[in-house]
Amino acid sequence: MALTENSEDTEKKSLNFIEVAVDADLKAGKNGGRLNTRFPPEPNGYLHIGHAKAICMDFGIAEKFGGKCNLRFDDTNPVKEDVEYVDSIKEDIKWLGFDWEDRLYYASDYFPKLWDLAIRFIKEGKAYVDEQSAEEIARQKGTPTQPGLESPFRNRSVEENLDLFERMNKGEFEEGSMVLRAKIDMASPNMHMRDPIMYRIIKHPHHKTGTTWNAYPMYDFAHGQSDYFEGVTHSICTLEFEVHRPLYDWFIDQFAGDDYRPRQMEFNRLNLTYTVMSKRKLLQLVQEKLVSGWDDPRMPTICGLRRRGYTPKSIKNFIDRIGYTKYDGLIDVSLLEHSIREDLNQTATRVSTVLDPIKLIITNYEEGKVEMLDAENNPEDISAGTHQIPFSRELYIEREDFMENPPKKYFRLSVDKEVRLKNAYIVKCTGFKKDDNGNITEVYCEYDPTTKSGMVNSGRKVKGTLHWVSANHCVPVEVRLYDRLFCVENPSEEKEKDFRELLNPDSLRILTDCKAEPYVATVSKPGERFQFQRTGYFCVDQDSTNDRIVFNRVVSLKDSWGKIKNK
Ligand code: ATP
Ligand code: MG
Repeated sequence: MALTENSEDTEKKSLNFIEVAVDADLKAGKNGGRLNTRFPPEPNGYLHIGHAKAICMDFGIAEKFGGKCNLRFDDTNPVKEDVEYVDSIKEDIKWLGFDWEDRLYYASDYFPKLWDLAIRFIKEGKAYVDEQSAEEIARQKGTPTQPGLESPFRNRSVEENLDLFERMNKGEFEEGSMVLRAKIDMASPNMHMRDPIMYRIIKHPHHKTGTTWNAYPMYDFAHGQSDYFEGVTHSICTLEFEVHRPLYDWFIDQFAGDDYRPRQMEFNRLNLTYTVMSKRKLLQLVQEKLVSGWDDPRMPTICGLRRRGYTPKSIKNFIDRIGYTKYDGLIDVSLLEHSIREDLNQTATRVSTVLDPIKLIITNYEEGKVEMLDAENNPEDISAGTHQIPFSRELYIEREDFMENPPKKYFRLSVDKEVRLKNAYIVKCTGFKKDDNGNITEVYCEYDPTTKSGMVNSGRKVKGTLHWVSANHCVPVEVRLYDRLFCVENPSEEKEKDFRELLNPDSLRILTDCKAEPYVATVSKPGERFQFQRTGYFCVDQDSTNDRIVFNRVVSLKDSWGKIKNK
C-alpha cells in the first residue's frame, strides 16, 4: 500500500474521514486488500467545479492508497444525454490530471444484465408492472410519517408481469403508461423503499445502444448494481445519496452471494457563492444564450475555468483546502480565486499592459530615442530570467494613474508630483492637456536620467510606481474583465425570483483599446498566462487571432470585491 510505515503518523493526521475508513478497510484485509473506486457522471451536461471535488476524491483516494478508479458513465436517461457530454467529461478529467486507464465503462453496458435481473425479480415476486400514472403513484407514496398505499396492480401474476414487461420493451405501450416497480414495503420509513420504480418506457434513441431498448432502468436500479458488477469496493458519493443507500443494498442483496459488497460513503457537495451548480440551470444559461457557452469563462464548469485561466493545480489545491465533511455548506468563491492567485504568483510572467490608456509625454526625453530596459519575468522565481521592454518619449499609462485634483495620499501622478515608471526612471509631472469637452488627453512630465532602475544609487525614493508601455512599440490587445456571474451570494436560495433575474449585468466588460508591451505578442499563445503589472492575472483566450490577442482576466491581483461592493 502507498502509505509507508514512516509516513504513517504524519499522513494520518491529514486523512479525511473517508480516507480513514478506506485505510481501515485495507488494513483489515477487506476485499482481499483491493481498493476500487469509480467516478460516475451522467453525461447530461459538462462537468463543474463540484464534480472536480468528487473526481479529486474518487481518483485521488485510489492514487493515494494504491487502488484503481473507474470512469463510468451512468447513462440511463437517453433523452438528456449526448456524446458531446461524454467527450467533454473525458477531456476535463484528463485535464485535471487523472487517468482511468482501460477502465472506461457505461451503465448501458449492463443493460442486458440489468434486464435479466429485472426478469429474475419479477419471477421471484419482487417486482410488478404498475399501470398507474406517475401522478397517481406519487399520490400513493405517503409521507415520511404516513405509510403509502399499495398499488392495485401490486399483486398481479408473474406471467402477466413478464408479458407486460417484455411488451414495454418492445415498444407496444406509450411512455408513461406503465412502469416496473420493486415490491418492497409501502410502509417503510425510508421513502425510497416504498416500491421504487425500476424501469420506465422511453422511446428515444440512446447515444450508445440506439433503438435496442424501449424500457430503461432508473438510475437507482442501475447505479448500485453497476458498482457491484464492476467490483467497486468503495462507492463514494454526495450526501443526497445517503437515503438511497438502503435501496442500493437491498437490490444487491436480492441476487448477490456473500462474495463482497460495495461500501457506499457520502460527503458534502460543493456549493460556491455567486454561482449555481445545478446542471439543469447551467444548461439553461447555455441554451438561452445568457452565457457564450459551457466554456464561458464566467461559468463554474471545468472548461469555463480552464478557458478563464485556472490551472489543474489551483483547482486541486482549492479542493484540498475546503476538505470533505458530512455537512453541506456554501464555500466563498474568493477561496477559489485565492488558489489561482497563489499558483500564478509563482509561475506567471510579469508584463506591462495598460488597460485604459492615456498618453504620457516625457518632454525632456530625446525624440526618436529608444532604450531597451530589463524587466524581471518573475520576482518570485529568479530562474525565470528577464526580458526587455522598450522605453521612449511617448508612453501610455493608465488613465486612473493621473489626477488633476488628487485627494491626499494619492501616490500616483498629479502636477508637480513624482513617481517611478516601473523598470525605468523617476518622472515628475509638469502639466496636462484637455480637449474641448474637458477630457484629459495627454499628461506631460520630465524624467531624471540619474534615476534609471537597477543603477547603483539610482537616487531618491518615491511612493508610487506605475506601469507603462511605449506608444510606438506597444501592441493593441483586447481584454475581457469578468466579475461574478450572479449578484447575490446564493442564487439557489432566492425564493422570490427566478435565478436568471439574479444574473450580474456587469459580469463581463470588454476593453478593446488596451496596449501591451511588445514582448507579450512574441510569447502569447492560447492558454498562456501572465501577470499584468498592478492589474491582475490574465490568460490568452482562444478567440485570439494573428492580428489581435484577446485576454481573459483570470483574477485581479487582490480580492477587491469587498471594496467595490461597499463603495
Ligand atoms: P444531476 O442533477 O444530473 O444528477 P449531478 O450534479 O449529481 O447532477 P452527476 O453526473 O450525477 O451529476 O454527478 C457525478 C458525480 O459527481 C456524483 O457522484 C455526484 O455526487 C458528484 N457531484 C455532483 N455535483 C457535485 C458537487 N457540487 N460537489 C461534489 N460532488 C458532486
Ligand atoms: Mg446525479
